[in-house]
Amino acid sequence: MSGRLDTKTALITGGNSGIGRAIAERFVAEGANVTITGRNQSTIDEVASSLGDRGQGFRSDVSDMASHAEVVDKAVAKFGKLDVFVANAGIAEMIPFLETTEADYDRVMDINLKGLFFGVQAAVRHMNDGGSIVLTGSVVSVKGFPAFSAYSATKGAVRTLARVLASELAERKIRVNVISPGPIATHIFGRQGIERDFIEENFTQMVPLKRLGEPDELANLALFLASDEASYITGADFHADGGVAQV
Ligand code: NAD
Repeated sequence: MSGRLDTKTALITGGNSGIGRAIAERFVAEGANVTITGRNQSTIDEVASSLGDRGQGFRSDVSDMASHAEVVDKAVAKFGKLDVFVANAGIAEMIPFLETTEADYDRVMDINLKGLFFGVQAAVRHMNDGGSIVLTGSVVSVKGFPAFSAYSATKGAVRTLARVLASELAERKIRVNVISPGPIATHIFGRQGIERDFIEENFTQMVPLKRLGEPDELANLALFLASDEASYITGADFHADGGVAQV
């Protein structure tokens, strides 16, 4: 075996769908042991079983603060250690600013920011020195698309958090980086009742490469950042966005 993640163990939140699933599959293909979490038991079971002996999955809600330590304990119990944490679970909701209620705001903050913050904290407590943390951000941390106010605020905060954690965890040689997708073909918008056609029509024309991205194109980035190939990279934000936030 000569994978780019041989001997590494990883925990991926939201690993049962979309970008997180692509990352989980790629990590296992490159030799890692992988624990995934998500909300839907049947897709967790399906993905965990497709990962084989080097995978396992648990239902866990990142907005439940008690869940973070439990999940990390299960990952370490099965695979003995933790080298890589991918904080990927998230929701996206298109709601005009003036229609955004406190409940809407709390929902997206609790999952995308508070859940990520305390997930990383729990992971770091068990992570080996020299580990890698990958946070799933978004192009919306640097672009102002209408109707994404609360969502964009969470992703801007994720990008800022990465700078501080990279600085604070450097003494343990733990690297912290962000992957920022542009519009990617996943179920994230469908969960809110937004059809794929709407996304194609409204988002694709903003993208210089004139197509939606694929989850694998983010898995490529996550793999690189998780691996020792990225040993001198920390605090950075890598966009896989078809150029939408770049040109
Ligand atoms: P997806 O809906 O396919 O996957 C989202 C994952 O997050 C699922 O596995 C789901 O189970 C998990 N999740 C959601 N809420 C959760 C909760 N409360 N507790 C535990 N898990 C939870 O969508 P995706 O596009 O793969 O999204 C993954 C990440 O990528 C998200 O952070 C999202 O904000 C980000 N992102 C996606 C796009 C895009 O266009 N698809 C663009 C920019 C950023």
